[in-house]
Amino acid sequence: MGTSSATTTTYHNFIDGAWVPSVSGDLFEDRNPANSDEVVGVFQKSTAADVADAIDAARLAYERWRLVPAPKRAELLFRAAQLIAERKEALARDMTREMGKVLDETRGDVQEAIDMTFFMAGEGRRQYGQTVPAEMRDKFAMSVRQPMGVAAIITPWNFPMAIPSWKIIPALVCGNTVVFKPATLTPLSALNFVKILEEAGIPRGVVNLVTGGGGNVGNAMLVSDTIRIVSFTGSTEVGRTVSEAAAPSFKKVHLEMGGKNVVMVMDDANLELAVEGCLWGGFGTTGQRCTAASRVVVHEKVYDAFLEQFVSRARALRVGDGLDPMTQVGPSVSQGQLDTVMKYVEIGKDEGARLMCGGRRPSGSVYTKGYFFEPTIFADVSPSMRIAQEEIFGPVVSVIPCRSFDEAVAIGNGVQYGLSASIYTQDVNRAFAAMRDMYTGIFYINAPTIGAEVHLPFGGTKATGNGHREAGTAALDVFSEWKSVYVDFSGRLQRAQIDAQEI
Ligand code: NAD
Repeated sequence: MGTSSATTTTYHNFIDGAWVPSVSGDLFEDRNPANSDEVVGVFQKSTAADVADAIDAARLAYERWRLVPAPKRAELLFRAAQLIAERKEALARDMTREMGKVLDETRGDVQEAIDMTFFMAGEGRRQYGQTVPAEMRDKFAMSVRQPMGVAAIITPWNFPMAIPSWKIIPALVCGNTVVFKPATLTPLSALNFVKILEEAGIPRGVVNLVTGGGGNVGNAMLVSDTIRIVSFTGSTEVGRTVSEAAAPSFKKVHLEMGGKNVVMVMDDANLELAVEGCLWGGFGTTGQRCTAASRVVVHEKVYDAFLEQFVSRARALRVGDGLDPMTQVGPSVSQGQLDTVMKYVEIGKDEGARLMCGGRRPSGSVYTKGYFFEPTIFADVSPSMRIAQEEIFGPVVSVIPCRSFDEAVAIGNGVQYGLSASIYTQDVNRAFAAMRDMYTGIFYINAPTIGAEVHLPFGGTKATGNGHREAGTAALDVFSEWKSVYVDFSGRLQRAQIDAQEI
């Protein structure tokens, strides 16, 4: 897996069943965002040469793996799920150290990987096709799923184990092999996951891990003719690049991208519940969830009451190191992410939004070495402001007043993204109308915009996605293709749509 010195471990790539250094020998550091002095590990800064080796290994392994019966592939995945469950606590701690979110949440991230792996392993015995009557006598018609070949998996840092599991496990159960490039900010959780797949007995070459930057490693995967499917989660900007780079070779491209999710609080809402939901949705994971509730649209009749409670509760949130059990909001993941947050706070002020709390880094010596920022709320935000339109990906929530349900829905839909939305109301008619009218991939009633479960489709519309969904059985559609099969047992030529069948 790697080599250790007195203070840090240097981790390797995993190619063709072996832990190997990169061809160039270049390295990069993985640092703790709560204490940037702490190096969590040192990883391979790979290049196109390493990607080529990994793709070769995956191509060769595919010829055997695709022929392993799906229920047998699944047995290995069940074993992997058990191993993840046994090591949940250690995996969560590693994750908090490398990306900052609080332990309860990293435990949840690992749990999601466990749930997904068990769920998808179950698909090893399903992957149902269709058997339908044929138009012609003595002819049989059915459809089967077929694997596609080598899958390129490119993931972000905010769900360092859950998101890789959403992609790698369905890819494997469908019979594909994998080249996996995790985010450079969270390589350890990715490596921990791959290590468990190795231990579970996944054959050599079936899963390959190549760490390094998007420009080098990611792009080399996109231009390879061998890769047949790219599954990417990340920003809309990079997703567009991925889509364009993959287009000339007609790869299947599955994109999960940014969000600017909305909670709509109606005048009949249970306000306490709505406040609780907005705190969790807005500041959970330090606002670094694709489904984060970064906009809250509130009916004018309850606007002041909601705002007062929301601000006072946000002020009381405890910011700190995610390993401390008292902490509720961890640091931003990196200096770059913190800079983005600070930039948007200035933009919000310049646009004339009312800063209600936060807007600055917390003071005190415990905060000096981490990328901490106070939970921040802007009020009186107008829907066209940049802080109401653009993804910030930090602990910043924009509260927007509205006069009616219809206006709330219009504001809710009035962004380029379409991932998640929610409504707080006691009126069942409004709840169902909003469910119908919000053009998003995920919708919640009386709950915040976060909280997806692994057995339903996950993804978004417009600039959030390109029509695919992951999780649930929808993931099988990403990682397999349909083959329709006709068996003619008439012993003669029967021409479809031409030869009339006697009734
Ligand atoms: P990012 O787009 O910067 O990076 C995502 C991945 O793409 C990383 O592994 C990165 O190294 C790689 N990459 C970068 N440039 C590349 C290139 N030219 N070619 C190939 N790969 C390249 O995103 P991030 O900062 O890691 O994550 C945050 C973003 O992810 C947010 O926009 C968030 O909304 C989004 N996200 C979306 C979902 C979803 O399901 N919709 C889930 C989580 C995160």
